[in-house]
Amino acid sequence: MWNPFVYLDYNNLWRTLDDMGKEIPADAPWTAPHAEEWDKITMKELIDRLCWTTVARRFATLFVNINVTSEPHEVSALWFLWYVKQCGGTTRIFSTTNGGQERKFVGGSGQICERLMSHLGDCVKLKSPVIRIDQTQDIVIVETLDHETFKAKYIISAIPPPLTAKIHYQPPLPNLRNQFIQRVPMGCVIKCMVYYRENFWRKKDYCGSMIIQDEESPIELTLDDCKPDGSYPAIMGFILARKARRLVNLTKEARKQKICEIYAKVLDSEEALHPIHYEEKNWCEEQYSGGCYTVYFPPGIMTQYGKILRQPFQRIYFAGTETATQWSGYMEGAVQAGERAAREILHEMGKISKSEIWQPEPPSLDVPAFPIKTTFWERNMPSIPGCLKFFGWSTFLTSAAAMGLFAYQKGLLRKN
Ligand SMILES: Cc1cc2nc3c(=O)[nH]c(=O)nc-3n(C[C@H](O)[C@H](O)[C@H](O)COP(=O)(O)OP(=O)(O)OC[C@H]3O[C@@H](n4cnc5c(N)ncnc54)[C@H](O)[C@@H]3O)c2cc1C
Repeated sequence: MWNPFVYLDYNNLWRTLDDMGKEIPADAPWTAPHAEEWDKITMKELIDRLCWTTVARRFATLFVNINVTSEPHEVSALWFLWYVKQCGGTTRIFSTTNGGQERKFVGGSGQICERLMSHLGDCVKLKSPVIRIDQTQDIVIVETLDHETFKAKYIISAIPPPLTAKIHYQPPLPNLRNQFIQRVPMGCVIKCMVYYRENFWRKKDYCGSMIIQDEESPIELTLDDCKPDGSYPAIMGFILARKARRLVNLTKEARKQKICEIYAKVLDSEEALHPIHYEEKNWCEEQYSGGCYTVYFPPGIMTQYGKILRQPFQRIYFAGTETATQWSGYMEGAVQAGERAAREILHEMGKISKSEIWQPEPPSLDVPAFPIKTTFWERNMPSIPGCLKFFGWSTFLTSAAAMGLFAYQKGLLRKN
């Protein structure tokens, strides 16, 4: 960042990604004015077009890796721009303070499911994957792997789209949905928790957030993961996309070793080499997740198939975080999607009007999202090409004026 050109390049990158996002409707990205054009290119192509410096290009790659657990060359530029936009922009999605990473649940987010279950009681069936959905009569019959069947008037499928390909449908899925579910893969991430006897990084006045731009480092992003009272000192780190694929065949111990070595290097601390415990979760091996955090859209898919994302199929309604229009890819998006799908059914049953289906989530009182402010300079600083053009023109004009003066003094210019 000491290099002013790099600073200009960074600033222009974030500003341009946010500006492009502004013209993408969160609920229908396929209708954006440049949808076709942006959906034909990958984020790698967009990054190569926007970034003039290697530093900015590498950071942009890491930004894609972290936010969508995939590589820039794998994802559509339109889809990624939409993804960042519907999370409030580049600053909101990436920030801890006043951003996507600010809060955790005391006691862990698994409690959401556990508490819902305690309300719902016996009707929650665990370890019961659905294998068949029959809509040939005027009810829906759902069959699970152990051949239990359930009947319902309507159902909500909140399963990530690619995993719905494991289900047999009668009648078969419509054309576009049948193809769509084969075209959106899940991202790739191993989440790693290293526990220490004490939070030595805080003693050094470090917050525990590390962004590591070293190809040899398994981890690209870390966050402090101590409990709110400071107990269980831990650093959480993500092994993402290409790195997860590269390291997946190592032993757990070897991954831990590599992680501790890079933490020791970045934090400049021998203590990082001596964890007391290590946990990791490779989401790519999960049969009923297929990967995480969510699906990604390769080029061409959003414009061709996007509009069927939330389109019901007879009595099946679709929820799941990927169908959300705000914080899709996050728990927040999953909740928005579930509520919207439930209201779609209420509307179908004649209990609410169509205009009641989409209701904005009330702003959080506990954790209000403060506006993201940009400075005058961030808004107006030129990009590198803008800067070169300016200096190019000023050099040209200065030279032309100097030559003109020289020619005039030497009497080479005559008045008519
Ligand atoms: C490592 C990691 C870190 C994350 N960090 C955050 C974070 O900090 N903040 C945040 O908000 N979000 C985070 N997420 C994303 C968040 O977990 C998801 O957005 C959220 O869980 C999506 O909810 P969902 O209900 O749409 O899908 P899921 O939670 O994926 O639920 C889908 C369910 O469908 C079930 N299923 C699959 N196939 C079948 C079948 N055939 N029959 C019946 N059931 C089936 C699965 O078992 C699963 O329980 C993270 C995800 C990962 C993996």
